[in-house]
Amino acid sequence: MSLLLRGGWVVTQDAQRAVVRGDVLVDEGRIAAVGDVKGGADEEIDCTDCAVLPGLINAHGHVANTLLRGRADDVPLEKMLEVAFAADAKLTRRDVQVGALLGCIEMLKSGTTSFVDLFYWEDEVARAVREAGIRGFLAWTVLDPEVTTQRGVPVKNAEQFVQKHKGHPRITPMVGLQGVYACSEETYLAAKDVAEREDVKMHTHLSETRVEVYEHEKKTGLRPIEWLDKIGFLGPRLSAAHCVWVTINEVRTLANRGVAVAHCPVSNMKLASGGVAPVPEMRDAGLAVGLGTDSPISNNGLDLFSDMKVCALLHKATRWDASLMPAQAVLDLATIGAAKVLGVDRELGSVEVGKRADLAVVDLRRPHATPFYPANLCSQLVYACRGSDVRTTIVDGVMRVGDGHLVGVDEAEVLGRAREIAVELFG
Ligand SMILES: [Zn+2]
Repeated sequence: MSLLLRGGWVVTQDAQRAVVRGDVLVDEGRIAAVGDVKGGADEEIDCTDCAVLPGLINAHGHVANTLLRGRADDVPLEKMLEVAFAADAKLTRRDVQVGALLGCIEMLKSGTTSFVDLFYWEDEVARAVREAGIRGFLAWTVLDPEVTTQRGVPVKNAEQFVQKHKGHPRITPMVGLQGVYACSEETYLAAKDVAEREDVKMHTHLSETRVEVYEHEKKTGLRPIEWLDKIGFLGPRLSAAHCVWVTINEVRTLANRGVAVAHCPVSNMKLASGGVAPVPEMRDAGLAVGLGTDSPISNNGLDLFSDMKVCALLHKATRWDASLMPAQAVLDLATIGAAKVLGVDRELGSVEVGKRADLAVVDLRRPHATPFYPANLCSQLVYACRGSDVRTTIVDGVMRVGDGHLVGVDEAEVLGRAREIAVELFG
């Protein structure tokens, strides 16, 4: 099955960050040509006045929490977690699957083709990923057995999940960790052991709030990053969400150990985590940084277009420097940067021949995006465009959204089931 995206503005995100006016040919799930393509394909999509970009990559979230959207607004992290954990205890496997499917639909319709998820019952999230046709990097959450709502031993659950899902073309299993406030040294090292044995990546929350950092320092004498380094946990297998409360020395430690970061500006702002992750310094230090929405409880959406804009504005506003985090740097975080975070930049994150065909087509004819100039297309995407401008989304060479409509999944049915579950959960 071949697809030809004809006549768009291709934002390649290649090493030169070239924007090419032309076509993209997709064949057997991969990008077969970029530029002036002669001849046809099994299916042709007219991309006139559209931008064709690499599918966006959401570097951190908890997708099944769509069911909790709007249930913990205007409260800090600790209060939000109370709501989340209380709801978690009531969720059934079916609820998690429906919540995850709802999140996958929202992401596909706003141009996201890959996402990182940190949750228990990742096998249900995996089911949703298979059904929706999106790409999932799924980290089963490990935490101390005495504080979990999971049945069985979390690290064993993670190991089984990883073993079961390794080798799937669109599901990459990972080992997740909740954070230093819920994981002992023994838990961290047991999780690392599984990740090394199975040769998979790890994902965790890290230095998200001031409370987390100071409580940990009180308990151990060390800040979370210093402590994780001392116990030998940090390494290139790890991507860490947030890293808001970090010193420049800790940024250097992360760089030295090859740890990658998922920056979640909207969640950090909404929960009033205070401070701002020093992303410019992280990038200067050579860290791979991606952009994440975090949970629909703390965002409340999964639209990376909206979060790209907030990301750019947050750093400018707080540093009094309009040149900081320019549009290109922010678009990088949501595409090739996030692919580097996951160690898959040879396969994903840019529109280049040979890579997997994960693509988003964005309509540039909407009122809020008019007029547009080819020379500032990247700024237009970050500052003017919205997730709802995405017309077509392709994952692994298969069209999952066409002309704004979901393909292969009954959207109305999933939304209806999500509403029913919300009534059961919250009345
Ligand atoms: Zn999170």
